[in-house]
Amino acid sequence: MHNITMSDTTEPITVGKIVCLARNYVAHAHELGNEVPSSPVLFIKPASSIIKTGEQVVIPPYSDDCHYEVELAILIGSTAKNVSADKAMTHVSGYGIAIDMTLRDTQAQLKEKGYPWEIAKGFDTSCPLSTFVPADQIADPHNLKIGLSVNGETRQDSSTACMIRRIPETIAFITTAFTLEPGDIILTGTPAGVGRVCSGDQMKGWIDGIGELHIGVK
Ligand code: ZN
Repeated sequence: MHNITMSDTTEPITVGKIVCLARNYVAHAHELGNEVPSSPVLFIKPASSIIKTGEQVVIPPYSDDCHYEVELAILIGSTAKNVSADKAMTHVSGYGIAIDMTLRDTQAQLKEKGYPWEIAKGFDTSCPLSTFVPADQIADPHNLKIGLSVNGETRQDSSTACMIRRIPETIAFITTAFTLEPGDIILTGTPAGVGRVCSGDQMKGWIDGIGELHIGVK
């Protein structure tokens, strides 16, 4: 069982699936030479990929190019299927910080062949998550400073205001394909500045109003 904690309760919340949005910030899509997609590109990480603050990413032996991607994480609090954008936010119970660890070399090889990305995006330790804060403590999730440093040097420094697709429309789109259930998490995409980490590196992710996430690399 893999779980997260909320800042206002001690009871852990069991995580189901982690639905992730690719290319949701223009500057990041362009830094990887990608088009901004006309409809959202989704992928899923298994709950077994979760680690918590103070823990370490373990890069699998088949990769030599592991990247960080700091992202706003959304916790789902109630079941949602085919929800409209104007009802979507009633299903959000909390917000957290995620780092979508990505094996860029493996992902590039798989993309070239048209194969699924799972072993590049869903490997064990690929989903560091912070403690979550209740949704009612975040006045506007589309106006939060978000960033990441490696060994104290800032690498990503942006705002959730730069997201292409807003959270309500993202949730509405996801629920046309997948029922969202309590304990599911959505990763909303990363801003520009992604890059490689190596053994011994120390990452710090932050989002205003949520806090910090500290993760090492084994
Ligand atoms: Zn990502």
